Amino acid sequence: MTDITSPHQSVSAGWQSTSSSMTAAIGGTPLIRLKRASEETGCDIYGKAEFMNPGGSVKDRAALAIIEDAFRTGALKPGGTVVEGTAGNTGIGLTLVAQAMGCKAIIVVPETQSREKLDFLRMIGADLRLVPAKPFRDPGNYVHVSRRLAEETGAFWANQFDNTANREGHRTTTAVEIWNQTGGKIDAFTCACGTGGTLAGIGMGLREQAAAAGKTSPKIVLADPEGSALYGWVKSNDLTISGGSITEGIGQGRVTANLEGCAPDDAERIADPEALEQIFALTAEEGLSVGGSSGINVAAAIRTARKLGPGHTIVTILCDGGARYQSKLFNPEFLRAKNLPVPSWLA
Ligand code: PMP
Repeated sequence: MTDITSPHQSVSAGWQSTSSSMTAAIGGTPLIRLKRASEETGCDIYGKAEFMNPGGSVKDRAALAIIEDAFRTGALKPGGTVVEGTAGNTGIGLTLVAQAMGCKAIIVVPETQSREKLDFLRMIGADLRLVPAKPFRDPGNYVHVSRRLAEETGAFWANQFDNTANREGHRTTTAVEIWNQTGGKIDAFTCACGTGGTLAGIGMGLREQAAAAGKTSPKIVLADPEGSALYGWVKSNDLTISGGSITEGIGQGRVTANLEGCAPDDAERIADPEALEQIFALTAEEGLSVGGSSGINVAAAIRTARKLGPGHTIVTILCDGGARYQSKLFNPEFLRAKNLPVPSWLA
């Protein structure tokens, strides 16, 4: 859907060239070789540095793709309002992109999300509505609250879970960037799911790029936290949930429209201590400060590398930065209360 010549969208060149606007600076993120993960496995493991987007996360891409699509269809016009339910990062992306394009945003977030994301949303002028955390089947769930709010006010509902403009943004930008940055040498891609837009969009895009080049498709591997049903869906077509995770923005109990038609080839279930070990090592040994979902993604990339054996190339996503979770993932009291490891420099 997104024309790569659009003034708001860039492929690969974003951080190397001048940008006509904030939205043109979304995407074009570096692919960083992860030293420890690569050395431990004998593979080349790369992280796509999505924390470098203007709003600080991978969700800037979905926000831009959804708003551009809504402008194209006329569902949103300059001066209009976009409403969305989000764990925070989509809300940050939508608010910034909306403001850059002459619109406003109303953002509905469960009150359990990190203080840093909520403060950021307030700081940038989002109309923030906090709601109690409720399961999807409950009418009070943040997604349903945001849908009703849009219906009542006549605003545009972004509907990131089931609006496939989300994955289209990744298919036409992120996947193309990864293919070009690796020179088409990519054996596997690992990624966690919230909406599934990142996994499905990049997965579909990489399969298309490989087919066009006459190459074997890279393996698309779901990285799933405890408490999400998607691992069971991939492994045994069974959506059952057990356990829980301190990671935010990922984990899903249903097959969203964004996930439909993009069956991952494999899945890894990653528990919080394994993800935290990666996050703390990336920080201390490689100078990369990332959040919880990045830890899940890197842990799954390492497991995938071990399954494939040395000499392979695996790409994953560094979804957002550690500063967004200072009060949780980098808070010794929070970690100790949950019986989780504390990084040595904070102990
Ligand atoms: N990581 C973080 C930190 C997120 O906020 C999100 C989105 N909520 C994801 C990963 C998952 O991305 P997607 O919605 O594209 O599946």
